[in-house]
Amino acid sequence: MTKESRLDPRAAVIDEVCPAGEPWMKVIRKGQVLRILDLEGNQAVDTLFYNAHEPEERYSAVDTIQRQANLYLTAGTQLISTEGNVLLTIVADTCGRHDTLGGACAQESNTVRYALDKRFMHACRDNFVSAIQHEHEHGLGKRDITHNINFFMNVPVTPDGKLTFEDGISAPGRYVELRAERDVTVLISNCPQLNNPCNAYNPTPVRLLIWDV
Ligand SMILES: [Zn+2]
Repeated sequence: MTKESRLDPRAAVIDEVCPAGEPWMKVIRKGQVLRILDLEGNQAVDTLFYNAHEPEERYSAVDTIQRQANLYLTAGTQLISTEGNVLLTIVADTCGRHDTLGGACAQESNTVRYALDKRFMHACRDNFVSAIQHEHEHGLGKRDITHNINFFMNVPVTPDGKLTFEDGISAPGRYVELRAERDVTVLISNCPQLNNPCNAYNPTPVRLLIWDV
């Protein structure tokens, strides 16, 4: 389901670009709205959310899918935590579908999915681990890197239950917007993957805006 936002980028308190293949981390206060904007189209934005005060409470793909009885995320979806609380709500979405089944790419999954010599290519898990090591105040460690959301990524489930990585359904300028229902830490890897069509084999930058609403 697509839904447009009325928020004006000129009124945003944060307006930054995360380069292709890089991590980005911020705290979003309760009531603030985060927009992730796909600047050039078909980019995958691997994202984790945590309770900013108790990071052992984090986004749960299982609870989110179960609560809404749907595999895909879009406008209206509530992102549920491991404690059953609503962390954020998707309040606008001009892409229409986001994945939470495919997981984040890692050196290990690259060797299993593609080839042994892909092991040394940069991956989302490297970004997550790098970001938490440089941002100690969030209290996150390696064990906190669990299942994530892949914004703008198209991972349809086939009739017999298999997952496939398909060409993206996003386009330049499409965005997803989330309202924080409590203080949350957002950890993004702007996916550097070069081996599957999640980002059209061409990682590109994304724009990140935050509003006080
Ligand atoms: Zn990735």
